Amino acid sequence: MAIQDKVKINENTQLLFEKAADFLNLSEEARFLLKNPYREISVQIPIKLDNGQFKVFNGYRVQHNGSRGPYKGGIRFHPSVDIDEVRALAALMTWKTAVVNIPFGGAKGGVNCDPKKLSINELEKLSKGYMSKIDLVVGPYRDIPAPDMNTNAQVMAWMMTEYSKKHGHTLAIVTGKPIALGGSYGREEATGRGCVYVIKEASKDFGIDLTKSTCIIQGFGNVGSNAAKFMEEEGSKVIGVSDVQGAIYNKQGLDIKELLKYREEHGTISTYPKAEKLTNEELLELECDILIPAALEGVIYYDNAPRIKAKLIVEAANAPVTIRADKILEERKIPVIPDIIANAGGVIVSYFEWVQNLQQFTWDLDEINFKLKKKITKSYRDIYNYAKENNLSLRTAAFVIGIQRVVEATKLRGWI
Ligand code: GLU
Repeated sequence: MAIQDKVKINENTQLLFEKAADFLNLSEEARFLLKNPYREISVQIPIKLDNGQFKVFNGYRVQHNGSRGPYKGGIRFHPSVDIDEVRALAALMTWKTAVVNIPFGGAKGGVNCDPKKLSINELEKLSKGYMSKIDLVVGPYRDIPAPDMNTNAQVMAWMMTEYSKKHGHTLAIVTGKPIALGGSYGREEATGRGCVYVIKEASKDFGIDLTKSTCIIQGFGNVGSNAAKFMEEEGSKVIGVSDVQGAIYNKQGLDIKELLKYREEHGTISTYPKAEKLTNEELLELECDILIPAALEGVIYYDNAPRIKAKLIVEAANAPVTIRADKILEERKIPVIPDIIANAGGVIVSYFEWVQNLQQFTWDLDEINFKLKKKITKSYRDIYNYAKENNLSLRTAAFVIGIQRVVEATKLRGWI
């Protein structure tokens, strides 16, 4: 997908990689190997719709780098999905799993579709159809998919069922499953929770008192709504949120519990009466302490970056800030906590789910949250310290740490 800077998203990710590769003085061969995916597959998924017609959907799975372990990454159902987007997101997973030091490589999958226009029955067919087309390149020790945008525990249950039909009962083939089918406690809210653990730690570095802070969250899906809930619990005033239908703003603060209930009843937050209505674009430019883009990529770009008024940006979405915007924000001294640490809570708890599945053992929620907090907080601290010591942005520092780990593993295997 071309983002608003008119740069293809994968090119954007590769440029971020190049910046860190320059710092590390990486060889041309290493750059080539690490910039491009190991394997990509495109599949057709023909589905008989409820109205009797056939429709063919395009699906992808890109395995970017597997030096550090089995490939890992979510599957996205969205109309913007194409091979370029999946490639970029797969590479980000390589750096994400490396930067938080969990034993996985990076992958991503997606199906180009509009899930809002599909019935439950059609979604089930699509999920199972997708898995049946990629089952030969995935496996509990090969590549482990998970939820991403518009996919959830139910979709994972369908995919696990399809895989198990051919390969025998295999809980560890996907993570993010329902608790009743081998899912982990805490996985569903892990990305939002992890994001807030990072913010808690980072607030010390940027002189923000969370109990006196204001925050704005763009996107109210799984990640955004959980981040809102946990930010409120930390005492932050959530003054603006949005979903695909629009944004709402109340400078006194929104009641997130009430808002979650409102969404359950109305399917959107955009019509919530106790707030002013805005567009998504306007929301991003409002004054606040912490801005959390938690929706699509490329929403902060060269045009609106000069108008952002937040004191700190935290990338709960993947790649919400373009490289051109990144430069502008750096010049304006607005720190950005990059996606590969800010939203790593999801894949960290996916790792815990995988470990539990392989051991046929269950950890309770307190243990999961304790382990998540420890891991993500330490990873953030390492990035912050490295950035300070080397005068780098947090993003470049995170990439450098991730790349170093992948290069080391790759060298040890004798590949470069
Ligand atoms: N889709 C999530 C991400 O972008 C989670 C991936 C996973 O749990 O494997 O990090």
